[in-house]
Amino acid sequence: MRIVLFGPPGAGKGTQASLLSEKYGAAHISTGDILREAVANKTEVGLKAKSYMDKGELVPDEVVIAIAKGKLGSIGEQGFILDGFPRTIAQAKALDEALAEIGRPLDAVVNLQVDEEELVRRLSGRRVCPGCGEPYHIDSKRPEIEGKCDRCSTEVVQRADDQPEAISNRLSVYENQTSPLLGYYESNGLLMSIPAAGSIEEILGRIAVSLQSKI
Ligand SMILES: [Zn+2]
Repeated sequence: MRIVLFGPPGAGKGTQASLLSEKYGAAHISTGDILREAVANKTEVGLKAKSYMDKGELVPDEVVIAIAKGKLGSIGEQGFILDGFPRTIAQAKALDEALAEIGRPLDAVVNLQVDEEELVRRLSGRRVCPGCGEPYHIDSKRPEIEGKCDRCSTEVVQRADDQPEAISNRLSVYENQTSPLLGYYESNGLLMSIPAAGSIEEILGRIAVSLQSKI
């Protein structure tokens, strides 16, 4: 299986990527992880990426592409789920070329779709323990003692990122960045849009059914 997974913040993309990786035995390749890995291994492109990250700048396309290609080249027959890459049309085209070279094109591009209202509800309900990092949610995972972390009793907080204004900003950034990519993959006939409301298992089931004809 060779797929790209898209989904806005709060759509459960990371969770679905892990479950798909387990179910199909494909590598879960998250851009954040492979960038950190390349930086930690001090590879040539890793050091280049680090010089941008240290300045708080976006890592340029050609560096991200080089790191992603290196990773894809190393996983062989196993298949992959790309998460967070490609992020631009230039990256998408470079990915197509790299996969064409090795004769293993993408099978599908999965786009998790969730109403904005639901995303805001999910994201604004998040709480986190600043002491140990344990995540909570006011609907689905409340601490046993109101407002106190189960593990270390620190008072749980809402991240600045999960305040309503920051959420609508994150969602519009995502939308602006992703819509050209969705258009690109729609014109290639690879795009599958999956309603991502309901339980984690229901969503996984919908993705699996849609992938049946593709892989
Ligand atoms: Zn804690």
